[in-house]
Amino acid sequence: MQQLPRHRPQRKFPNAKRVILDCDLDTCPICDTLLKPRRPWHMRKTIQTLKGPFFVAGKSKACVNPSCPNYGKHYYASRVWLLSLPNSTYGLDVLTFIGWQHEHEHRQLVEIQRELNRRGVMINERNVGKLYRQFLALLSATSEDAQESLAATVAQYGGLIWAIDALQPEGYGRLLYVLYEVLSGRPIAAFQGEQVSEKDLVEWLQPYRDFPFPVLASLSDGESTLVAALKTSWPEAPHQRCQAHFLNNLAEAVLEYDDQLRKNMRQDLGGLPAVPEQSPEVPQAPLLG
Ligand SMILES: [Zn+2]
Repeated sequence: MQQLPRHRPQRKFPNAKRVILDCDLDTCPICDTLLKPRRPWHMRKTIQTLKGPFFVAGKSKACVNPSCPNYGKHYYASRVWLLSLPNSTYGLDVLTFIGWQHEHEHRQLVEIQRELNRRGVMINERNVGKLYRQFLALLSATSEDAQESLAATVAQYGGLIWAIDALQPEGYGRLLYVLYEVLSGRPIAAFQGEQVSEKDLVEWLQPYRDFPFPVLASLSDGESTLVAALKTSWPEAPHQRCQAHFLNNLAEAVLEYDDQLRKNMRQDLGGLPAVPEQSPEVPQAPLLG
């Protein structure tokens, strides 16, 4: 039988820069054993950002200690959300751009749509509205919403890992603090402000501190206000520092990371899985399960 030529779907963004993110944890939060990196990507998607399209993939690690209750469980690259919220094909910087332009510059959604198109982001007005609502939902998320969904994570992993990142997306006049839960890869709540103190952060975290769940660890970069707020809120939980820094400018950090990635890839050719065809329609694999 004659073999038919393989038709590959046309890629919408063939020149998308590649960003592969690793799991942020070095050791298992339950048994403290060094985690083993896993080769397959647990998620992949192509996103549009203000700095152009990116192909983003996440790699996980596994606990390899047979006596650990989490033996064989996977820990995922949760900081993918720093680039783009779960199930979104737009960068977080596009959401914050829309939020800032609409609320502080008082521009209509259709004007913002035109501006995004001018900057190379393909988006229609309806989706600008949708992203704006997603941005508002992140800022107004309640602890009740979070508590219900995090119970499943606790059942699976035996507890939670809380993390905060401070972002300053381009064109956004403030710092955006995002609380996320590492094991589920879920952004839980966001807080924005200028000259935010440890006290402000601790107050913001209070409802999450009251959750009836064990907290295995907390995670942030080395920024002292963040570290202090996490340690005050969860004094019993060991604090870990993140591997990568995404402070200041989201997209610049991505570019740096991408350069480092390419260097690593050159040293590690063959260690990565085959490149799949990329399409924004490819659904994001669930971060859990
Ligand atoms: Zn373990």
